[in-house]
This record gives sequence, structure tokens and C-alpha cells, in this order.
Amino acid sequence: TFKAILVSRDADKKQSVDVVDLTEADLMEGDVTVAVEATTVNYKDGLAITGKAPVVRRWPLVPGIDFAGTVISSSHADWRKGDKVILNGWGVGETHYGAYAGRARVKGDWLVPLPEGMSAHDAMAVGTAGYTAMLSVMALERHGIVPDRGPVVVTGAAGGVGSVAISILSSLGYHVVASTGRNAESPYLIDLGAAEVISREELSQPAKPLAKERWAGGVDSVGSHTLANALSMTSYGGAIAACGLAGGMDLPASVAPFILRGVSLLGIDSVMAPKAVRLEAWRRIGTDLDLKKLSTLSRTIGFDGIVAAARDIVDGKIRGRVVVDM
Ligand code: NAP
Repeated sequence: TFKAILVSRDADKKQSVDVVDLTEADLMEGDVTVAVEATTVNYKDGLAITGKAPVVRRWPLVPGIDFAGTVISSSHADWRKGDKVILNGWGVGETHYGAYAGRARVKGDWLVPLPEGMSAHDAMAVGTAGYTAMLSVMALERHGIVPDRGPVVVTGAAGGVGSVAISILSSLGYHVVASTGRNAESPYLIDLGAAEVISREELSQPAKPLAKERWAGGVDSVGSHTLANALSMTSYGGAIAACGLAGGMDLPASVAPFILRGVSLLGIDSVMAPKAVRLEAWRRIGTDLDLKKLSTLSRTIGFDGIVAAARDIVDGKIRGRVVVDM
């Protein structure tokens, strides 16, 4: 048997969270079984465990949207016993039993190899938040937003996506403007490579259609007024990669930045991203993310700390990334 977190619902749809013992026979269908060595607590995991948003769509469910570990058994052509693998998304921890268990059984098509030189712990210090930050940076690059074009803004800066985005962008030579609601975290953000730190309030008020041009691009994990302001302050031909909703799912913006400044809004999804894109993102993480910065932005907890960390992340209290050592 192995320990697992199970979220359940009673007849009145009241949600409960328990630690249970499972066996491999309890796992869902899949062609690869993995010993989970490390996982993480992402914002979405916080929503799943607290029930604050309908992330869980099958009951009961083992939550946890990402893990790194070692293949125990496989009938999939790409994977053999002993292979080191990473999983991000694909509905794991939403509709398929997830990472918060000693073992996971998944489709081999969902897995990517652990990059050379990275441990399972390193990969989960990056986690889905960091892999999404990389997807966002790649989208900006595809749009021609290179360091010479001007500054880039990162919102939700002290969070998981934000911290990894700052680290990658600064390593690539961008001038990073970090927007945070936690001004006390300025030294941390500068340590990660932010050139300037601005206060969350500057971007959280209702946006004007257009404002003074401040940056060529950005990575937004907040949504709502923050994304609207980020767009209205983007210079001619620039782009913002939108990947999150920590401040709200709405977008109270105007079309002015799009039609008067040729600004683009780049949508980022990590969950269903095709395999080739994932492989490229993890390759780039291996080359463009400084492992020293990765240890600055992450801390480690045990299995017993998952539920408390899940509550903290939806309250905006987690700095950087939380790795769970299984
Ligand atoms: P996180 O660690 O909690 O980071 C979110 C950050 O947003 C917080 O640290 C905080 O940063 C800021 N924030 C929180 N509440 C806010 C509010 N009410 N108004 C303004 N700012 C607020 O979470 P994460 O794991 O990095 O995820 C960030 C977002 O990206 C989430 O919405 C998540 O669902 C999304 N996401 C999307 C994908 C995808 O595939 N598109 C993948 C991963 C994550 P400061 O304290 O610095 O202000």
C-alpha cells in the first residue's frame, strides 16, 4: 500500500479531504505506472483541495497536477522500467488520479523525460508553474519580443509562475519589471533578476483604454484589471502572454491597445499543450533557468504539508515554488 490524498463529496456536495492507503489496484487506467518521487503545490492544486473552484471533475479523486518519478512498469513503447519522467497536466489531478500518492498510473503519451542534469526535485521546483512560465517566454519570443525591444512586465511576481518567469527572462537578458502585492519581497525579486519592482496597486485599478507605454511585453498570471492595465501600457507592436487568473477570471479591457497600437494578447495553456511544445519547453528550462535561482525560489515540504500549502496558495501566501518530497 501507499499513502494518498483523496478528495470526496457527500450527498450534499460538501467536500472533504482525507489521507488514505491505496494499492496499485485502486489506480485508474493507464499504460505506465510511476513511483512518484516529487510533486508540488500549484495554484490549481490549491483550488482543488480547498474546493474554491471546480477543478475536480470526478469524485473521489487524488489531486496533484504534476509529478516527477521513476517508471515501475510500462506497456507503452516509449517507456521502460527505471526511466525518469515528468508529468504536467493532461487532466491529471482534475479527472484522473493525480500526484498526491506514492504511485501514479497514467498514459505514456502524457509523459516527458526528465531533462539531463536535473533531479526529480529540481523538475518539481520548476513544476507546472515554471513550465508555464517557459511557455509564456517562448510565446513572447515567437512574437519577436527580444530583450532589445524594451522592458517586460511580470505580474504576480512573487508567485510560482512569476518567480520562474523573472528568473528565465533575466537570464536571457531582458529588463524585467516585477509587479507584486508584497513589497517586502522586493529583495527576493531583485535577487531573482528583476531590474525594477512596482506595486500591485499600480495595475489593479480599472484600466484606461490606453496609458503611457511602459513595456514591450509581459507575462501575466493575474488576469482581470491587472491584465487590462498591462495591455494598455504595452508599447507599439508588443505582446502580453496571459496564463493565469490569480486576481480574477474577467478581462475588463478595451480593444484600444489591439487596434491603435497593434498589441497582441498571447494565450498560454499548459494542460493540453502538445508533446513537441512540452519537450521544447523542458529543453529550454534545462538551458535557460539557473539552478541556483531555482533553489532561491523554492522550498521543500513533506507529504503531510500538502493540505496546509494548498490553503496558503489560494490565499496568496506562498512565495515562489513549493516542492513536495515524497
Ligand atoms: P501563485 O504561486 O499563487 O502565484 C500567484 C500570484 O499572483 C501570487 O503570488 C500573488 O503575487 C498574485 N496574486 C494573488 N492574488 C492576487 C490578487 N487578488 N490580485 C492580484 N494579484 C494576486 O500561483 P501560480 O502557481 O504561480 O499560478 C499563477 C496563476 O497561473 C494561477 O491563476 C494559475 O491557475 C495559473 N496557471 C495557469 C497555467 C496555464 O496552463 N495557463 C499553468 C499554471 C498556472 P504577488 O504577491 O507577488 O502580488
